[in-house]
Amino acid sequence: MKFERKYFGNIVSHDGSLSLLDKFISDKLLHYKSKRNFDLGSYKKNYVSALSPAISRRILTERKIIARVSNQFSYGQVEKYIDEICWRTYWKGWLEHRPKVWYDYLSDLSSLDDKKNNSNYVNAVTGKTGLECFDDWVKDLLEFGYLHNHTRMWFASIWIFYFKLPWQLGAEFFYQNLIDADPASNTLSWRWVAGLQTMGKKYITYQENIDRFTGSRYKFPEQFKLQDNLIDEYVFYEPSYKDRESIVSSSSKKGYIVIEEDLSFENVRKNHPVLIQSESYNTFNQSNNVKLLSDEALKQAIDYCKNNISSKVTTFNWQNPSTIEKWILENSINEIEIIAPTIGKYEKLIPSTFNQLDAKIFYYYHDWDISFWEHADKGFFKLKKKIKNIVSPYWTTPLFGTS
Ligand SMILES: Cc1cc2nc3c(=O)[nH]c(=O)nc-3n(C[C@H](O)[C@H](O)[C@H](O)COP(=O)(O)OP(=O)(O)OC[C@H]3O[C@@H](n4cnc5c(N)ncnc54)[C@H](O)[C@@H]3O)c2cc1C
Repeated sequence: MKFERKYFGNIVSHDGSLSLLDKFISDKLLHYKSKRNFDLGSYKKNYVSALSPAISRRILTERKIIARVSNQFSYGQVEKYIDEICWRTYWKGWLEHRPKVWYDYLSDLSSLDDKKNNSNYVNAVTGKTGLECFDDWVKDLLEFGYLHNHTRMWFASIWIFYFKLPWQLGAEFFYQNLIDADPASNTLSWRWVAGLQTMGKKYITYQENIDRFTGSRYKFPEQFKLQDNLIDEYVFYEPSYKDRESIVSSSSKKGYIVIEEDLSFENVRKNHPVLIQSESYNTFNQSNNVKLLSDEALKQAIDYCKNNISSKVTTFNWQNPSTIEKWILENSINEIEIIAPTIGKYEKLIPSTFNQLDAKIFYYYHDWDISFWEHADKGFFKLKKKIKNIVSPYWTTPLFGTS
């Protein structure tokens, strides 16, 4: 899916992503349900929002999206869109219930290095397979860092059931190149396609389906057929979940730390010292596109904070965490608040860094996450029945008890 450059200028900032949201609401949202599955090749022609790079960094929060949408539409008119917004929250919660899924994936990856010499793999990641649609998607992924949701499904299905490559390597390729890369949505979606997320259910695509939803843009070889080969055995992961709540203190000597995974500033009180990450932390070899976008989002966040929240802004990077100690001392901070780390690059880094510091640490959770995550231990469709209830406090008009 192709983008004009100005999209990338907007998606990284609070104001820019809100203007993209407003444009999506006015031009496309009403047709989202009927047209969201079509990938006609460009941001302009498609009916999805492409807001995921802002949502996954929380430049744009679910709270803001719901407020904007509910000002203009009834719940019934936009239910499908709300459901999709909640998928992301659900996947994150599902993985929080089962961190082992992430660590098993990382351990599988470390044993698959030799498979990267396989010519199917090399051709796939360089877009030289000869399968026109697939090569086109690889080109888009490498150039823009984004693929339409349906295309991600076809891509993963072809990767696994046509090229017979390990799903873990596909998930890694996506994670390294998607500008909305998210450990939960990405890993669990790949597992879902491979049939490991829901027992007995694999996602095996076919030419007519791709033709129908791409406007028959691609040529296929005569014998284009995916085969239901055996992937890894389905493993049941027992959910175990600890209750989470934000314990927010009101100390006047409190400082806030803001990292690339949450640029919402929703919890940050005005005029307190704020320490903001200045460049992305690239532990999983993410592409230059992803790094540039994250760096720009951080730069925009620093400006946003200075202009709207606090002038007491300092920056740091994870290569040099001693800055954190210096900041604590210079600002006489005795309590720090930071977003609660979720599974991924910060889950272990944040506690291990802060355990060594001489300040009390508080983790902030968004109410939105907490209210969904407790229901994310089972399948999405169980949670789906509760969505309207959970979303109701965020809706601008009462969703229940009115005629
Ligand atoms: C194999 C595979 C890998 C994926 N990897 C990622 C990833 O790394 N990061 C990521 O954010 N999403 C991932 N997704 C989910 C989905 O494809 C993207 O969230 C969506 O395409 C983002 O585009 P959009 O903002 O235009 O979505 P829209 O259709 O406009 O939806 C609005 C928002 O709802 C959420 N959403 C929509 N569909 C899904 C979905 N199926 N699962 C979870 N959340 C959803 C996103 O936050 C999205 O921004 C993956 C899906 C597949 C099949």
